[in-house]
Amino acid sequence: MKIEFCDLKKQYKILKEKIDSKIQLVLDNGNYIGGEEIRELEKKCAKFVNAKHAIGVSSGTDALFISLLAKGIKKGDYIITTPFTFISSAEVIELIGARTIFVDIDPKTFNIDAEKIREFLENPIDQKSKEKIEIGKIKGIITVDVFGQPADYDEIRKIIGNKDIFILEDGAQSFGAKYRNRMACSLGDISITSFFPSKPLGCYGDGGMIFTDDSELAEKIKMIRNHGQKEKYQHNIIGLNGRLDTIQAAILLAKFDFFVKKEINMRKRNSQLYSEKLKNLFNSGKLVPQLIEKNVESIYAQYSLKISDNLRNDLINYLKERGIPVALHYPKPLHLQEAFKHLNYTKGDFPVSENVSRNVISLPFDAWKDKEEIDYICGKINDFYRS
Ligand SMILES: *Cc1c(COP(=O)(O)O)cnc(C)c1O
Repeated sequence: MKIEFCDLKKQYKILKEKIDSKIQLVLDNGNYIGGEEIRELEKKCAKFVNAKHAIGVSSGTDALFISLLAKGIKKGDYIITTPFTFISSAEVIELIGARTIFVDIDPKTFNIDAEKIREFLENPIDQKSKEKIEIGKIKGIITVDVFGQPADYDEIRKIIGNKDIFILEDGAQSFGAKYRNRMACSLGDISITSFFPSKPLGCYGDGGMIFTDDSELAEKIKMIRNHGQKEKYQHNIIGLNGRLDTIQAAILLAKFDFFVKKEINMRKRNSQLYSEKLKNLFNSGKLVPQLIEKNVESIYAQYSLKISDNLRNDLINYLKERGIPVALHYPKPLHLQEAFKHLNYTKGDFPVSENVSRNVISLPFDAWKDKEEIDYICGKINDFYRS
């Protein structure tokens, strides 16, 4: 059997009629930039996550960047985030000229460890100058809902207390997830998501969304995404071109109801199938799945687990030979990436992230995998451990 890691074409085939007609409508109407579909999508998304404002933007990365711009983040400011994430979560901080502070993750959930945030805030030291950081310079925390599981927001808020530190939720992987009966992408002071094709809700190119309840901030975000203007050719602040395409909004609209009514459950069902079929290996400790906390519902952007006994490469090769692709999210934590060399972090600074990066794999996953495919994958994994 040949397995696709994430089969986007299968989904298109099933929704083809609806998607094609929505795209055709945009082509016929000619409002390729700023079309009505964008506002329609923004309304749907805001309602779905229960946020006051949703603002469509050009990608998840731009959503993070624009959020920091709107918050007025600049050189000399510090932003805390996790090193176990996709590069976007931290590159936007450096791009703006602020300084990234990494804190380690929880070994079970792989999300930023609230306790480590507490430790840092009690004694904030600049990694580079080794000097104490003035607490007022620490402006925000970019939390990442890694693999689709929201971080521990209540705990993080408790730790922030009455300090003037905002939470920017990187929900690029968690649109559709829940945290204590609240929707992901409404858990930060600002939250973002990505519609990259392989994300839980994906378009057919690049796209993203910013969410906030703060109306003043929302106005600023709208201006920044469109060259800092409210009225055409009247530029009040510095902005950029961070708009969502009408065609991508139309595609998302065509997929939206199906995602909400069907795909969320299909993703959950597939994660349960995996967990059932791999239970013996979980019980024996040979495989350690990402722990999903009680009162939290992951959307399983990835189905990820840790491999014990340094068997990762052997398992990957074994599966590859049998038509099963796996992915590594993420093979190298950000503090060890060359791009962040200037931050002066070294190996050993974040042992949990380093350990998880060494041992983690993501199994093929999408809403559309059927029981036979998951049976096949799990059968081969079980065979590997028997041989
Ligand atoms: C995918 C992803 C992003 C970036 O989204 P793009 O739309 O690809 O720019 C940001 N953060 C995380 C955690 C992601 O997984």
